[in-house]
Amino acid sequence: MNPVRNPLIDISHDGHVHTLLCGHAVGRMEEYVQAALARGLSGMCFLEHLEVGIVYCKRNWLEASHFAEYFREGERLQKAYKGRMAIQLGAELGYNPAAVDELRARLRQYPFERVGLSCHYYWHGDRHWNLLGLHPDSLNRFRAIGADTVLTRYFDNLMHAAAELDCSVLCHLDAGLRHLPDLQYQDSHRAQIRRLLATVKARGMMLEINTSGFARRGYPYPTDWIIREAIGMGIPLTPGSDAHDPEEVGRYFEQLPAYLAALRP
Ligand SMILES: [Zn+2]
Ligand SMILES: [Zn+2]
Repeated sequence: MNPVRNPLIDISHDGHVHTLLCGHAVGRMEEYVQAALARGLSGMCFLEHLEVGIVYCKRNWLEASHFAEYFREGERLQKAYKGRMAIQLGAELGYNPAAVDELRARLRQYPFERVGLSCHYYWHGDRHWNLLGLHPDSLNRFRAIGADTVLTRYFDNLMHAAAELDCSVLCHLDAGLRHLPDLQYQDSHRAQIRRLLATVKARGMMLEINTSGFARRGYPYPTDWIIREAIGMGIPLTPGSDAHDPEEVGRYFEQLPAYLAALRP
């Protein structure tokens, strides 16, 4: 009997792959393509970090000039691997409410085939703080501000971004403050997430099932109840490994069909 194609997700395509260009990943673009081939994938999308106006101690993204190199090499690889690996060139857009026009302009500069929506940074005082990082300074700062306040603004930012910018997929939805121990969601946060999912649906976006969560917490981002709601709303799901090392391409994808089937409402 032929294996039944899982209707909830296509695990032959990794939609979220980084490269050394971002400053915090290892491996050249071609090494990621080779890794995808070795994994038996038929498609992959580079989703490089695009941030504008972030005041932070290090560059965790591609500057405009890096994107020229990214597209040059990406287009070379698309030709070289044609018929063996469908390679897409996309961007993981980090929302910054203070730079919406500039973000739009940057998106127009290149023919991004997929735009993943994230929000990695939180403005406080005179600089940004990394919502996904584990540096004790950031975690102490977020504790001082109050996790509830930070989460509320995080989801609010994603909501604005989904409504205002043309994005294809909402990435690692509940990864904000992931390194704060004992993080609790309030009913108000759950209500924000439901409104965000409604916007994702209305805007024709997909929801990313980010398998880096398996490595960090034993299950993917977002958490089960969010995925269940998304399935119930008919939001398409797409897998992303968030690979920052070629070894991580397609990680845990084999677990997704059974995991998601169990969440079907
Ligand atoms: Zn990254
Ligand atoms: Zn990413």
